[in-house]
Amino acid sequence: MVVGVLGLQGDFAKHIDILNSLEQTAVVVKTHRDLKDISGLIIPGGESTTLSLLLEAQGLYEDIKSLISDQKLPVFGTCAGMVMLAKSLVDAKEGQKTFGTMDISVKRNAFGSQISSFEKSLFVEGIDSGPVHAVFIRAPYVVRVGESVSVLADIEHLGTRYPVVCREGSTLVSAFHPEIVGDARLHRLWLEYCVYDG
Ligand code: GLN
Repeated sequence: MVVGVLGLQGDFAKHIDILNSLEQTAVVVKTHRDLKDISGLIIPGGESTTLSLLLEAQGLYEDIKSLISDQKLPVFGTCAGMVMLAKSLVDAKEGQKTFGTMDISVKRNAFGSQISSFEKSLFVEGIDSGPVHAVFIRAPYVVRVGESVSVLADIEHLGTRYPVVCREGSTLVSAFHPEIVGDARLHRLWLEYCVYDG
């Protein structure tokens, strides 16, 4: 199996490093040709509004959308990647497109602006070896989950708990950046979903 990491923007090289540390073959996806042999795709963080423009400019938007929705390509989206997979956004920028393949609604920049970025240890269902050190950078959170979506971790914000890690079949999303701290456990969890549900 070969896993693709969307490489139009963001820290995609760090995801490649993590996959390599798990002895998982990984390729950077920048063009249509790179999609040919992959059996899973990671959509890294960055800026979802820019990402959607770059995907269209590269002619990748429709291809990736149909790989996920029609061919059930397993995907792992972190931060802006989570935004890209959401069925709906609370506060989409005008013209902003998502793949819309996961039955969640997401609020962008939900904790505030860049200066409200923070780090927190939290437990993720399915990871029993201790909490994950989560780095939230202008992070989104989930405001609605569909029936087929499981919440694997949530966090309190202004007195309410919001999902920040969710799974739907072989789709995994996290509002934070596991690759930044070099924690491979979420990637490993997702690779298990790829095998069972992919
Ligand atoms: N706020 C960004 C967005 O809406 C996501 C930030 C990130 O990926 N770190 O796309």
